[in-house]
Amino acid sequence: MLGLMQNWPLTVDKILDHAANWHGDREIVSRSLEGPIVRQTWAQTQARAKRISNALKGLGIRVGDRVATLAWNTGRHVETWYAIMGMGAVCHTLNPRLFADQLCYIINHAEDRIIFTDVTFLPILAENRARMPTVEHFVVMTDREGMKGVTLPDALCFEDLVDQSAPDFEWGGFDENTASSLCYTSGTTGHPKGVLYSHRSNFLHTLSTLGVDVMGLSGRDTVLPVVPMFHANAWALAFSCAAAGCKLVLPGAKMDGASVHELLESEGVTFSAAVPTVWLGLLQHLRATGGKLSTLKRVVIGGSAVPEAIVRGFRDEFGVDVTHAWGMTEMSPMGTISSPTAKVAAMSADEQLRYKLKQGRPILGVEMKLVDDAGHRLPHDGTTFGRLMVKGPAISSGYFKGDGGQILDEGGFFDTGDVATIEPDGYMQITDRAKDVIKSGGEWISTIEIENIAVGHEKAAVAAVIGAYHPKWDERPLLLVQLKPGAQATLEEFLQFLEGKIAKWWMPDDVVFVDEIPLGGTGKIDKKLIRERMKDYVLPTAKVTATA
Ligand code: AMP
Repeated sequence: MLGLMQNWPLTVDKILDHAANWHGDREIVSRSLEGPIVRQTWAQTQARAKRISNALKGLGIRVGDRVATLAWNTGRHVETWYAIMGMGAVCHTLNPRLFADQLCYIINHAEDRIIFTDVTFLPILAENRARMPTVEHFVVMTDREGMKGVTLPDALCFEDLVDQSAPDFEWGGFDENTASSLCYTSGTTGHPKGVLYSHRSNFLHTLSTLGVDVMGLSGRDTVLPVVPMFHANAWALAFSCAAAGCKLVLPGAKMDGASVHELLESEGVTFSAAVPTVWLGLLQHLRATGGKLSTLKRVVIGGSAVPEAIVRGFRDEFGVDVTHAWGMTEMSPMGTISSPTAKVAAMSADEQLRYKLKQGRPILGVEMKLVDDAGHRLPHDGTTFGRLMVKGPAISSGYFKGDGGQILDEGGFFDTGDVATIEPDGYMQITDRAKDVIKSGGEWISTIEIENIAVGHEKAAVAAVIGAYHPKWDERPLLLVQLKPGAQATLEEFLQFLEGKIAKWWMPDDVVFVDEIPLGGTGKIDKKLIRERMKDYVLPTAKVTATA
């Protein structure tokens, strides 16, 4: 027997309609690419987005066509998202940090017909124009003034399209399972693969992220998503802030500590989200300038494991609560969050810290299990490492155009590629990417755990651990450290610092100081590149064993 409730397709245009109708005067404030701070309301955002939908229709875009954005977080980018998705086309967010070859590959793979671009990216588009045969137009996200000097052929002016297009457009009217957006994984192995979200998956994921124990956003919050809209949907904040009626503050191209701090203070931001490197930059800026955080209450950190030094820094020096979250592009992206359970909340602040550093418990709509290499379930005892598998309505069932083949196991679970432990009460902790974990004498060593302790050393700017070949143990940990500018340190200092904080057999066999630890397109430590750079390196312990 079917229920007798209305069939109201869960399409994301309804989220912006809700913001415009019921939180119409709440603001979106952007640091524009032109420089000045620009203000608009949710009502104006909806009105302008509808005009852009009309412009797209005029350019021949139909349901299912791919329209790309190559843009920073700004009000225009939010308008473009809703304009594309609202009419049933697919919004393909391009990551400008990818190499030109990868960008061209995904534009062609997606068969993008139009690219909306910030002025910043005109040179790379001009240089590679001939390699994008499916692209018919570029819309430059600027006004008439900003178009001066734009030489890219087929370039249209965003503000002209807004001005010249009709105001009314009826969004929606299609199945909720219609594709809404497309984001490619960073492609650390092989070509990037397309994750194709649906309206329904985005709508449900937005509702889940709004929970009090997840993002817990309210209409009284002012939210600064530093996490880019081109990387894992800015953790759904362009949807959830509209759904909750938050004031939204967008940093444009400037994500350094000083620029972020200026916006946090001038706009009265209460909640923010970013990867650890951004927060390290902010903390360094605040310490150097004696700056304060007068309105900020909560920050969510994810994308990489959060080091203890960041949680302590925010808590002890600035009174800001850090919540650790984990997810991935394939999960829309949120999977777990480390909000305290009743039991954890009753513990002392220092005891709670142990849980804050874990990636947390699943949000509504995420099932998790641990398996061994043969796919057998492993216990949730907090110590057994296993492959982390996930299942839910906002998690990929396959990649765009069938790339990667069948990606679910027999039970419908997706292999995250992460290795984790899960405590009996559900707290999950990522110990590594499956391909990074160190296998030493048949046992596993977590590189993330060692890195996060090492980066807490006062002289360390960034730390990375990789497995180096060892004739007896197969692999042993090698710690690489990029020191803070001007700092000098010895191997012994770092080993002493780690002593007692990790198991003895996890101790790195060597410490190498490097000028730079490379970061990839999504701000994470690029271990593939490090391994390549260190391919001729031989552990001192390996030499001893080899000659012994
Ligand atoms: P992406 O799809 O680019 O967002 O990358 C997803 C991957 O980033 C995950 O599979 C994890 O390996 C890593 N990741 C995301 N959040 C965290 C976190 N809080 N701690 C450790 N690793 C994380």
